[in-house]
Order: sequence, then C-alpha cells, then structure tokens
Amino acid sequence: MKFDYLVVGSGLYGSIFAHEAKKKGKSVLVIEKRENIGGNIYTKNIENINVHIYGAHIFHTNNKKVWDYITKFADFNRFTNSPVANYKGELYSLPFNMYTFNKMWGVVTPEEAANKINEQRAEIKNEPQNLEEQAISLVGRDIFEKLIKGYTEKQWGRDCKELPPFIIKRLPVRLTFDNNYFNALYQGIPVGGYTGLIEKLLEGIEVRLNTDYLENKAEFDKLAHKIVYTGPIDAYFDYKLGTLEYRSVRFETELLDIPNYQGNAAVNYTDKETPWTRIIEHKWFEFGKDLEGNDIPKTVISREYSSEWKPGDEPYYPVNDEKNNNLYKKYKDLADKENNVIFGGRLGEYKYYDMDQVIAAVLDKCNEELF
Ligand code: FAD
Ligand code: UDP
Repeated sequence: MKFDYLVVGSGLYGSIFAHEAKKKGKSVLVIEKRENIGGNIYTKNIENINVHIYGAHIFHTNNKKVWDYITKFADFNRFTNSPVANYKGELYSLPFNMYTFNKMWGVVTPEEAANKINEQRAEIKNEPQNLEEQAISLVGRDIFEKLIKGYTEKQWGRDCKELPPFIIKRLPVRLTFDNNYFNALYQGIPVGGYTGLIEKLLEGIEVRLNTDYLENKAEFDKLAHKIVYTGPIDAYFDYKLGTLEYRSVRFETELLDIPNYQGNAAVNYTDKETPWTRIIEHKWFEFGKDLEGNDIPKTVISREYSSEWKPGDEPYYPVNDEKNNNLYKKYKDLADKENNVIFGGRLGEYKYYDMDQVIAAVLDKCNEELF
C-alpha cells in the first residue's frame, strides 16, 4: 500500500504535520534518522531529571492559537526563563533590565539608566548595519563589551561586525525590574519533558527510527504520494549549489552527586576566555522536583560549546546572513519545482524559527494542504 504522506523527521514540524494528517484520515509514515523522536526538543529522563539533550528549550509565545494548540498535548508548568550572565565572575541579570543597569553602572532610577544608555549609544549615528552597532545602539558600549561581544562571538564564530543586526533584537531591553527573558504572554515547560508531548502527537502513527531518507531516497519516494521533508534543504539537493552554513553545538553533560550546582537553569558565560557559552542545570526547568513533588538529590548539567558546522555534524542554527539567505533562495527555487515535496521547519526552510513559529508555520501548511 502507498501512504498518503511520508514525513521525514519527527521534530515538532514533522510530528504536528503527521498528527493533523492522521486526524484528517490520511495514512502517514514518519521516518527519523536519529534513534529518538522529537528532533531538537527531545528530552531524556536521567535520575528523574528531564534532560534537554539538544539544548535548553523554553516554550514561549504571544500567539494564543499556538498556545491553545500545544497545551492540548501536555500540561505546561510556570517556568519563566531568567538566565544569569557570568562575566569573569561578575554576575548580571538578563535580559537587559534595571537589575542589569544597576549592577553595571550603579544607577537606581529608570531615568538614570536611560541617560546612561543614551550617552553611550550616541556613538552610533546612523541605522545600525551589523550586530555590534545594533547592540551599542540598544544598550550602550559597556553592556556590549561585557555581556554581548564575547558570548555572541563564541556562539556564532564570527565578529559582531559581520553578523546581522536582527539576532540581537530578539533580546528585550527594559527600564523595569523584570528578569523575564521573553516578552511572551505564555511561557512554560511541558511537565515531564518534551518527549511525552511528541509521543502524544505521534500516537497511532508508524515511526521508523534510525532511518535516513537521503540514504535511500528513491525507495522511500515510492512509499508515499507526498513527502514532507524537515531535514536541511541543501542536503536534499545533495549540496549541488553549495552548502548552507549552520552553527553546530556540542554538549558536555555530567551527572553530579550534589543537589544544586549553580542555582539557576541557565548561566551564560559572556567573556571570551571561557570556552563554553553557557551551562544548563536541567532540574531547574521543573523547579528541582520530581513528579511527586520530592526534591531531587542529584543534578545534571550541560556545558554548551558552539562550533562551525561541517557536513556530517548536526546542524542547529541556520546562519541567516546575506550570503546564506541568497543561497537559500536558489535552493528554494529548486524546492518549489518539486511538486510532491513540502519543505518545512527550521532546516527545511532555513529559518531561525522558535518552537512557536514552527507550530504556526506547520498549522498554516496543514490548513493549506489537508482537507
Ligand atoms: P528539528 O527539531 O531539527 O527536527 C528535524 C528532524 O528531522 C530531526 O529529528 C532530524 O534528525 C530529522 N532529519 C533530518 N534529516 C533527516 C533525514 N535525511 N532522514 C530522516 N530524518 C531526518 N525554540 C524555542 O521556542 N525556545 C527555545 O528555548 C529554544 N532553544 C533552542 C536551543 C537550541 C540549542 C536550538 C538549536 C534550538 C532552540 N530552539 C528553541 C528552536 C527549536 O529547537 C526549533 O524551533 C524546533 O525544534 C524546530 O523543529 P523542526 O521540526 O523544524 O526541526
Ligand atoms: N546574547 C548575548 N548575550 C547573552 C545572551 C544572548 O549577547 O548573554 C545574544 C547572542 O548574540 C544571541 C542573541 O543574543 O545569539 C539571541 O539570544 P537568544 O538567547 O535569543 O539565542 P538562542 O540561543 O535562543 O538562539
């Protein structure tokens, strides 16, 4: 029998598409090259701690439709992301807010903070052309030097002058005492981790793990009328126009026999010298408690190192600069000619999507495609 859809990739995009297709009575097969479902949001339970294996994931959105949709598949807790920045042992609150400004400059009122920022941003005279100019124009040079430059250059492996301004515009700047990292109406972590959420989406759907579509593309294409491809778009075309650049991430994860390593889910190391970008202490995503509400005696931490991607590595972050976006457009033209293939998700569309944006994108696609 031929499936209506072959979904390549069991991340958020693929799993939601598969779920919606099944709901509409379509037959669906999901294949996944990793040994686990969930793509980058996969979590693994270690000693009652749900470890975010592919990096810390905090769900946040202003989109009520997306929130109403995703909360059907899991209960979300009230976790609010408030990372701490560690610059050579000095600790600062993130995102940039009155606590940060007070620690940086000793200013006490919003007016004093605004004056300090205005003084420092005066060096940028025109529309910011790169991340460095954008950052200075948002928060001034002191914060740029201590909290942005080192972190950003480690994360992206490029000078801040060579990075696009929009990356830093993701971070809020506030003249209030508010350490909530996101400007989002809705925020939280699925109780018990993300994997259960994906399992619910994929209930009743055949999933084949350890199965790489591109290794046997012609054979898989015969299995279904239509393909939903959520892997890297350039890999689909065998990199024939060149490789799109990604940033990759490497995690060093340790189980420690102590209850509390750093007192917070995320600590960013914003100096240049520390080789990792941040340390995640996973238990704090669920307040250090197990599902029965007991304190967890151990802890799991992950040091996160950023690296340049090369073929064979896991691609994580698309590098949406001009050069790569232009190359992507050429691949997109080829993709538009593949009549029976939908390209979706962070890698399929080469977009720096957050989870809520992936959900919005796939739900739109389902509306267009499934009836
Ligand atoms: P993916 O999760 O990448 O899924 C694609 C799947 O396709 C993978 O499982 C892959 O193995 C599979 N695949 C690829 N090629 C093939 C093939 N040839 N054959 C078979 N299978 C294949 N978003 C937030 O909203 N909040 C956060 O806090 C947040 N933190 C993040 C931290 C990190 C380190 C990273 C990298 C991302 C973060 N994101 C966050 C973004 C979030 O991970 C993505 O928006 C979302 O997971 C993308 O889902 P996806 O289905 O498009 O892609
Ligand atoms: N950033 C920074 N210092 C920090 C945290 C973030 O300079 O302590 C910058 C960095 O350039 C990063 C961008 O802000 O790429 C966006 O941060 P965010 O946390 O949104 O990135 P994510 O890891 O979610 O992609």
